Amino acid sequence: MAIKYELIKTDKQTGARLGRVHTPHGSFDTPTFMPVGTLATVKTMAPEELKEMGANIILSNTYHLWLRPGEDIVEEAGGLHSFMNWDGSILTDSGGFQVFSLSKLRDIQEEGVHFRNHISGEKLFLSPEKAMHIQNSLGSDIMMAFDECPPYPASYDYMKSSVERTSRWAERCLEAHKRPHDQGLFGIIQGGEYEELRRQSARDLVSLDFPGYAIGGLSVGEPKDVMNRVLDFTTPLMPENKPRYLMGVGSPDSLIDGAIRGVDMFDCVLPTRIARNGTCMTSKGRLVVRNAKYARDFGPIDDACTCHTCRNYSRAYIRHLIKANETFGFRLTTYHNLHFLLKLMEQVREAIRQDRLGDFREAFFEQYGFNKPNAKNF
Ligand SMILES: [Zn+2]
Repeated sequence: MAIKYELIKTDKQTGARLGRVHTPHGSFDTPTFMPVGTLATVKTMAPEELKEMGANIILSNTYHLWLRPGEDIVEEAGGLHSFMNWDGSILTDSGGFQVFSLSKLRDIQEEGVHFRNHISGEKLFLSPEKAMHIQNSLGSDIMMAFDECPPYPASYDYMKSSVERTSRWAERCLEAHKRPHDQGLFGIIQGGEYEELRRQSARDLVSLDFPGYAIGGLSVGEPKDVMNRVLDFTTPLMPENKPRYLMGVGSPDSLIDGAIRGVDMFDCVLPTRIARNGTCMTSKGRLVVRNAKYARDFGPIDDACTCHTCRNYSRAYIRHLIKANETFGFRLTTYHNLHFLLKLMEQVREAIRQDRLGDFREAFFEQYGFNKPNAKNF
């Protein structure tokens, strides 16, 4: 089996899990956050820098690499690890989410999805078999099953037929997967906000015995309390001895609340995307370094942060670079935001180790400003 999960302990205050996932490219401690490297690069960061800030696993997007440069080129390079010079673990998604979110014109059939390339307009087709073939060529450590991720809100009837199709697609994925010895395939539990459908989806997928499971269809526009409620009834349906991955979640409050509900892995473009807008996550909340009030502020982005950016560069300098559209400015804020989330997860793991994640949550939310009325998500 390519993927193994080891449960180290659970937090006595919240039930959060401290664990370790073993992959063919090393191990990582959970709960963890995975930086997103859509096109085989975490935008503006060198793999060495990701290592330096403590990242052990990154995510890359099947859909994007299929279109550019093409999975055959990546395979010829010796796989994604060698192509991008990253020797840590890599998770690839199935391409399904991008087909549903980027492509306006799509036709979902039992066989797969017909849609148009979001760049060239060319007609394309993605299916469970095709998604497995591409990910087998990319050679990621963790692959994702091809699923449908319906928008929020979706009607019960639509969601039910979608969940059933996703289960049938999951079986086809298992059959088409050619490298189960060195690539672990995760099933994705769908069902939107409907408890009965999450239950049905979990039952179908758990019976197929995947080495890990994801919760899909969250962070698609639903309110936070809906996400937490869905997690409350979904994580208990997932096997204890396998990793649990919540897809597309990366705001600090949701990472903590997800871990409290038994999630082990998270990914999101949020920290890297907002960094390029000049928005930083700090120990005292969100800081928009572009703002005029930082023009003469020669202190670091976050004086509690030990990252390369905060040790060496000021808010005033970073603001200037970002306003002038200088790449170095985007690099500095990206480094800081990723470092911030990776350290946050380190603190979460430490709090679980000491049975005090509930207390940690309370103190963190207070300082970050999540307890204030109308608090922003990040
Ligand atoms: Zn920093």
